[in-house]
Amino acid sequence: MEKTGKYKRILVTSALTYANGDTHLGHIAGSILPADMFVRYSRLAGYDVIYVCGSDEYGTAIEMSAIKEGISPQEIVDKYHFANKKAYEQLGMSFDIYSRTSTDTHKKTAQDFFTNLYNKDLLYQKTEKQLYSEKEQRFLADRFVIGTCPVCGFEEARGDECENCGSALSPLELKNPRSTITGDTPVVKESTHFYFPLSKFQPKLEEWINSKTDWKPNVVNYCKGWFKTGLQDRAITRDLAWGVPLPMEGFDGKVIYVWFEAPMGYISITKELFASQGNEGKYLEYWGSEDTKLVHFLGKDNIIFHAIFFPAMLMAHGDLVLAENVPANEFMNLEGSKQSKSKGHAIYVKDVIEKYNPDSIRYAIASNMPENKDTDFYWSDLQAKNNNELGSILGNFVNRTFVFAEKYFDAAVPGAGEYKEIDINIINSIKSYTSSIASYYENYKFKDAVSETMNLVRDANKYFNDTEPWKVIKEDKARCGTIINTCLQLCRTFAVLFNPVLPFTSEKLYRMLNIPAEGNTWDNASELKLSGGHKLNKPEILFARIEDTEIEH
Ligand SMILES: [Zn+2]
Repeated sequence: MEKTGKYKRILVTSALTYANGDTHLGHIAGSILPADMFVRYSRLAGYDVIYVCGSDEYGTAIEMSAIKEGISPQEIVDKYHFANKKAYEQLGMSFDIYSRTSTDTHKKTAQDFFTNLYNKDLLYQKTEKQLYSEKEQRFLADRFVIGTCPVCGFEEARGDECENCGSALSPLELKNPRSTITGDTPVVKESTHFYFPLSKFQPKLEEWINSKTDWKPNVVNYCKGWFKTGLQDRAITRDLAWGVPLPMEGFDGKVIYVWFEAPMGYISITKELFASQGNEGKYLEYWGSEDTKLVHFLGKDNIIFHAIFFPAMLMAHGDLVLAENVPANEFMNLEGSKQSKSKGHAIYVKDVIEKYNPDSIRYAIASNMPENKDTDFYWSDLQAKNNNELGSILGNFVNRTFVFAEKYFDAAVPGAGEYKEIDINIINSIKSYTSSIASYYENYKFKDAVSETMNLVRDANKYFNDTEPWKVIKEDKARCGTIINTCLQLCRTFAVLFNPVLPFTSEKLYRMLNIPAEGNTWDNASELKLSGGHKLNKPEILFARIEDTEIEH
C-alpha cells in the first residue's frame, strides 16, 4: 500500500558524478550513501519513490583531459561513466537509473529549457573581451590559458585561479598569457554570451529559503551568506567544443555552460527512466507536480548549485517542482597526514571494494557521516566498526540464534509457547525502535538511524543472555523454543531495519531465514511473521574479521 499525506511521491537525486575520474569515499559520504539509505527506507516504508543519478560529462576539465591524453572527450567520459556506475553497483547503490549527460535526451532537454527562457525574454546578451588563439581557432576559457599571476608573480597561474597564492583570476588578468595546450600567445577578441538574470531572482529565492524551517542550518547559512553578498547575473554560454550546443542558429561554437546544463540532467535522466518503461511523458508526474517531494543529496561544495542556481532556473522556467529539501553533507576527509601517496588524496571505491565487505564500508561511513560538520575517515575505524559492532554484536546474535535452531530444533523455527514478561518486553521494544528509526530516516539523521538500529541488536543480545537458552534447553525445551522463536523473529526484523545501510547482509538474512525479501516492509517489521516449523537455511558468516595485517595503515 502506498502512503499518501502531504506528498504523493518522492524524487531523490544524488549530485551527478563528474566523469573525469574515479569515484571516491568522499562522494559516497557526501551525496550517494545518504540518498541510497533514504531511498531504501522510503521504499520499505511504502512511499512511491524514484532515485535518479548519473555522470556529469561536459565542462572544460574533461575537454582538457582529452586533449592532454590525445583522445576524445567521449572516450574519457565513457571510461569513467561505466567505471563509476560499476563501483556504485558494487557498493549496493540502488538507483532506479544511473545515466549520463552526453545523451540525446539530455541535449534536447537542456536545449528546450534554454529555449523556454529565451522565448520569455529572460536571458540577455553581453559582449565581452576574451583570449583567442588564432593558431587553434578557439577561445581560451579558464584552464585553457596559463600565464603570470598579477598578484604573486607565479608564472604558471591558470586562467581561473592561481594555485600558488589562491587568487581567483580571469584569463584577461594574466600577464604573458599563453595556451595551455600549444603555448600559442592569444589575442584579445570579442565574444557575445547569454546571461541569466540571477540577481532578479534574489527576493524570490530569499522568500523561498526563509520558508524552509526544517532545512539543515549549514545549508540555510550558506545561502544567507550569498544573499548578503548579493547574487550576480551569470553567463550561461561558453566558447567550447564539448558541450550542449545552443538551440538557435547563428551561435556556432557556443555551448550551454555546464553549471546551467548539468542540473537539467536530473530531469533528462528521469525522462530516460520512464522512456525505458515506454512512457517518457510520465516524468512530468514527478517534475511537473506540487505533490512531489524533491530531495537533492549533495556535498557542501554543491549547495549553491542546488539551493540557489537550479531553483532560480526552475522558477524562471515555471511549471516544475522546486526542492522540498537539500540535506547537504559536509566533507569526509582522510585521516590526518597519513594519506597514501600512491593513491593521491582519496580512497577510491574501486580499490576499497576489492578488499572489504561492501556493507562494512557503508556502515563505517554511515556511522561517521559528516551530517553537521566535517569528519575523518580512519582505516582503524573501518576495522573497529566491522569487528566490534557488525561482527561482535549483529553477526554474533544471528550466528548463535541459527546455531541453536540447527542444533536443537532441526534447523526449523520452533513454535512459540506462552510469553513471559521478558519476551513481551523485547517484542514491544521492536515496535518502538521501528518507529524511532523511521523518524530518524524521515529527518535525514542517518548516523542516529544506524546507531539506533544497532541498539536494538544490543537489546537482542541482552535478551539472549538473560533468557539463557543454553541452560533452559536442558530443563524445558518448549520454553527454549519460545526464546529461539523470538530471536529468529528478531533476525527477520533486522533484515528489514538494516536494509538501508546493510543491503547485502539483509539479503543474506532473508536467504538464511528462507523467506523472500518481498512482503517484508517497515510497517510489518515488528510483527512476528515466522511460523513454527518453517525450515531455515544454513547460517552464513555475515562479517569476517578484519585483522590488523589486512587493514591499511
Ligand atoms: Zn598568484
